[in-house]
Amino acid sequence: MMMPLPLALVEPTMSRLSAPPLAGQVALVTGASRGIGRATAQAFAQQGAALCLTATNLALLEQLQHQLALPPERCTVHRLDVRDAAAWQATLAHMHETVGAPTVLVNNAGVYLGKPFLAYAAQEFQQLLDVNLFGVLHGMQAVLPGMMQRGGGRIINVGSTAGKWGSRNQSAYNVSKHAVVGLTRCVALEAAASGVTVNAICPGFVQTDMVENLKQEAAKSTGADPEALVQALLARVPMGRVLQPEEVASLAVYLALPASSGITGQSLLVDGGMLMV
Ligand code: NAP
Repeated sequence: MMMPLPLALVEPTMSRLSAPPLAGQVALVTGASRGIGRATAQAFAQQGAALCLTATNLALLEQLQHQLALPPERCTVHRLDVRDAAAWQATLAHMHETVGAPTVLVNNAGVYLGKPFLAYAAQEFQQLLDVNLFGVLHGMQAVLPGMMQRGGGRIINVGSTAGKWGSRNQSAYNVSKHAVVGLTRCVALEAAASGVTVNAICPGFVQTDMVENLKQEAAKSTGADPEALVQALLARVPMGRVLQPEEVASLAVYLALPASSGITGQSLLVDGGMLMV
């Protein structure tokens, strides 16, 4: 007959098994006030990570913090305009005093402006690059030295299918996302030996304010019914639906888990099959 194990031996094993998969990780999420960033913050919280939630709208961040109801050492909020390199340093200083140094960076903040190429002012290209490219660049330059020194870390940049192919009437956005995919590869190469992984997630159409605004703007400029525009967009998506932010967030979680430790320099699609057609 098998003797029951003494409780003292069973309990530590059980508590190790039941620790949430991201316990001990500290994630800095940009653009956490809405959409994909907000869903990512929720998913990381659910998996046990500590969080620093950033965006420019502090009131929305505080609402999310209230909703997550985590102890102060597990969640802090900080106003961060990703275009401002000095503000990144202030955010890191704030993290050191609250939740600790970041082990994961989710560079998610982004903006969109669609127009025919000939209608864009150069200044509008610059505005998109300032957030979508330089925001990501400042973030990586801020966290990488510490991660490399500590011998590990995960950087997850949010690109787009627009970073993988050409598309009409959004060349500035498309260029900024191609730049994110390229920068992800280059930084991944330079960081690989230090144990820091750098990957990008490239979503297709995701139900957020960004797509809602795009729909309304396109309807206004073409006079078309917004729902007809959605159907035209979905004709390019084999799954035939707009994705939910949680479906992007779950890939961000995966890229922070020990299970993905061998993946770096990749730009992974979450697009309902769009690039297959
Ligand atoms: P969203 O709902 O419009 O949210 C954008 C987020 O970015 C907000 O939290 C916003 O926060 C933040 N943000 C914008 N400018 C910022 C700045 N200068 N500094 C700091 N934060 C800033 O958009 P989303 O759809 O969730 O987009 C998230 C990411 O996914 C973006 O990089 C976007 O390009 C990418 N993406 C989205 C889709 C899609 O279909 N939705 C598809 C492909 C890729 P505040 O307003 O509070 O600053």
